[in-house]
Amino acid sequence: MAIAETATFIDEAEIGSVLEAGAKHDSGRVREVLAAALEMKGLGMSDVAVLAGISDPEMLGELFAAARQVKEHIYGRRLVIFAPLYVSNFCANDCTYCAFRLRNKEVKRRALTQDEVANEARILVESGHKRVLLVAGESYPNEGFDYVLKCIDTVYKTKSGPGEIRRVNVNVAPLNMDEFHALQEAKIGTYQLFQETYHRETYRQVHLVGKKRDYDWRVTVMDRAMSAGIQDVGVGVLFGLWDWRFEILALMQHVRHLEQAFGVGPHTISVPRLEPAVGSDVATHPPKPVADIEFRKLVAILRLAVPYTGIILSTRETANIRRETFALGISQISAGSRTNPGGYAEEEGGITEDGQQFSLGDHRSLDEVVKDIAGLGYIPSFCTGCYRLGRVGKDFMDLAKPGDIRMHCDPNALSTFAEYLADYASPETRVVGEALITETLATMDPKSRAVSEKLVEKVRAGRRDVFV
Ligand code: SAM
Ligand code: SF4
Repeated sequence: MAIAETATFIDEAEIGSVLEAGAKHDSGRVREVLAAALEMKGLGMSDVAVLAGISDPEMLGELFAAARQVKEHIYGRRLVIFAPLYVSNFCANDCTYCAFRLRNKEVKRRALTQDEVANEARILVESGHKRVLLVAGESYPNEGFDYVLKCIDTVYKTKSGPGEIRRVNVNVAPLNMDEFHALQEAKIGTYQLFQETYHRETYRQVHLVGKKRDYDWRVTVMDRAMSAGIQDVGVGVLFGLWDWRFEILALMQHVRHLEQAFGVGPHTISVPRLEPAVGSDVATHPPKPVADIEFRKLVAILRLAVPYTGIILSTRETANIRRETFALGISQISAGSRTNPGGYAEEEGGITEDGQQFSLGDHRSLDEVVKDIAGLGYIPSFCTGCYRLGRVGKDFMDLAKPGDIRMHCDPNALSTFAEYLADYASPETRVVGEALITETLATMDPKSRAVSEKLVEKVRAGRRDVFV
């Protein structure tokens, strides 16, 4: 199959006309779309446009109720937890919204040595993390792309006490086929990359120099990744650059294209909003700011539109917004994050936030986040089972769509949470967490409960890394 080289699948004229038609809906049509959404087979572009056009508070309430129902049915009360690991902030691009941009003199540049990467990984392991998202600017001084491969290898090799990082996801600039083959051999989990904005003119205005100016090279990146055998890919938009309604419809076109070309859409969608960044006016004053209520709305719409695609919320959001949006559709969150290379070691040594990519909305430690979300009734999951067993890409979706994946996810979430509580939690978090495990087991169907109890018992008896 020929790999797409231009963004023919992003059709701005189609988005414009679908949005215009969607804005003319009445409540009857909205309810029709919501009823279809509850069948959990996903939505088409015109349905998404109808939901994007909702302004009536009553209809908005019904949208949120439908999203909560779908989220609860498919994901239950699990929230997968990960930490970003920034390895380098050198960059040859100049994205107006990012502190790492080439011409920003206000940021101290640093590429971690492999010893430093191992140290960061050790700190994350010792705080209880099992999943890491490796992040870098687009420039790898001296070593080229091999630097990224070495970093992945270092993270996987780092062990400390009973723990290790079991899945490394990667967010680095678009790669060519050879590089993707190498990334696949390095056993990454998800390859993640955000288009930032799908709106071509806005894209041109915010990307001033460097390879990132090439919209087509970026938007076709997942075609190359999937052709090279990377089955789990993560897409995203940096909300605040252009109209969010346009962006979610473009996301739908991207998903549709990947489904048609590869038989499976993206594994995850990330929904970062622009955060203030040192040396960036655009980040401080987003051209198209997305208000909190609109943000919740777009998360709810995405949950209904692509029910089986994970939605990732990062540390960019405050603890309050995170809490509100979990119920609407979020399935993965970052916790205890630092966005400057070496940030975890610096924090351990009492220095903070020099050279970070953007300001964090949530400064709490992993333990505080775990205690908070467990107190809200969510089960923090550190599971990496699917990736380890090769349940990825289309195989994963084939299990997920009939609902069979919960037979794996629910027990694995509980066993990895039990591991966290036993090995890393503070006494207060352990009390909250153990109560949640007991309560959750009591409400499970008999089959899942039996599997879960067995796994949790193994963990309590000292076994680690058990999953089904
Ligand atoms: N350099 C690579 C790239 O640009 O794709 C990968 C790493 S980059 C640090 C990861 C993401 O950070 C970008 O895709 C962008 O969406 C996000 N980002 C940049 N500046 C941001 C800001 N001010 N607020 C929130 N997210 C930001
Ligand atoms: Fe570089 Fe990525 Fe930041 Fe752009 S978003 S300046 S490419 S690190």
